[in-house]
Amino acid sequence: MLLELFIREHPSYMKDKKSLKSFNTFGIDVFAKDIISISHDDDIMKFLSSSKKQYPFYVLGDGSNVLFTKDYDGIILKMETKGIEIVSQNKEKALVKAKAGEDWDTFVRYCLAHNFCGLENLALIPGKVGSSPIQNIGAYGQEVKNFITKVYAISVLDMSFCTFINKDCQFGYRTSIFKQAQKGRYIITDVEFMLTIDGVPDITYKDIQNHLSATAPVKAQDVYNAVSYIRSVKLPDWKVLGNAGSFFKNPVVSVTHFTELKNKYPFLKAYPVEKDKCKMSAAQLIDISGWKGKRIGDAGVHVNQPLVLINYGNAKGKDILNLAKQIQNSVYDLSKIKLEIEVNIK
Ligand SMILES: Cc1cc2nc3c(=O)[nH]c(=O)nc-3n(C[C@H](O)[C@H](O)[C@H](O)COP(=O)(O)OP(=O)(O)OC[C@H]3O[C@@H](n4cnc5c(N)ncnc54)[C@H](O)[C@@H]3O)c2cc1C
Repeated sequence: MLLELFIREHPSYMKDKKSLKSFNTFGIDVFAKDIISISHDDDIMKFLSSSKKQYPFYVLGDGSNVLFTKDYDGIILKMETKGIEIVSQNKEKALVKAKAGEDWDTFVRYCLAHNFCGLENLALIPGKVGSSPIQNIGAYGQEVKNFITKVYAISVLDMSFCTFINKDCQFGYRTSIFKQAQKGRYIITDVEFMLTIDGVPDITYKDIQNHLSATAPVKAQDVYNAVSYIRSVKLPDWKVLGNAGSFFKNPVVSVTHFTELKNKYPFLKAYPVEKDKCKMSAAQLIDISGWKGKRIGDAGVHVNQPLVLINYGNAKGKDILNLAKQIQNSVYDLSKIKLEIEVNIK
């Protein structure tokens, strides 16, 4: 009834669909009923208590981990809330809280400028702070779960304000409670991080070590610079070639399974993750399945980084997904490993 009233009062609401092309890093040209900018937490409350809530809605940061396969028959809530607060600090540690709509890399640079260390390995990951817990972003030997103390959110069911401490978030490899059991049930408003003041950076990742000078003491800023350089060389710029970073997760398999494959393909790499299990490189599996650099129309596999699927111009989300399925089938035929998609499919 409320919805009918709303549509009667706003007759053009259903007709003036909004393009999402510039709201997803794949550059997929689909439409939503509307895009509402969330620049204050109150905007979330207003939306949830309005008649518009009767439409399906989807929260979007920068759309760098989403593949739209069709028009979205609902409303996009675009997170634009801003603010960074130093909650407390002593000689060793700082507790810093950021609004969900803050740009992730801007936040990492803010922390470095204040000598708050830890996030430097996660330099240049596209997206917003509020999205960082969703898939527990990770790169170059670190994951954001190692620094998050609390995630603040609004429940979409009853509009209550909720606080999740680190262990409530059920963080795992590219996942959390917000991507699994409680998917879509909370709108994250703020994230709080515990960082080390003047901390010793993590340079266990080989690429970082190779890039740093052997003698000078390494500072967090050096790691940030090294990671930024490596990323800019290795990964395609989504502003030039639409993509969402790694499309698949690296598969975790039994050591026995890996050993069988390694007998056939001696160059395959893996590293131990838990007892009797190891994590393999999905990029290598895609490569030996013959997909590196392949293209079907405007949907393709990057020439240097086979984990990254590309929109070469006018690919539709379905074309990218179809390519992904073909890759999954080839990898399965070759290795009996089912690659899991990391990107959110809408
Ligand atoms: C070139 C490139 C490189 C990348 N490299 C990495 C990498 O190294 N490591 C890595 O982990 N990821 C990487 N990614 C993936 C992506 O950057 C991250 O997953 C990022 O955190 C997504 O942020 P976003 O704001 O764009 O989220 P979006 O894509 O907008 O949203 C992702 C999901 O989170 C949900 N969501 C977003 N904000 C909220 C909120 N406030 N409350 C509730 N739900 C929300 C959305 O509904 C959606 O399901 C890369 C992507 C690209 C394009």
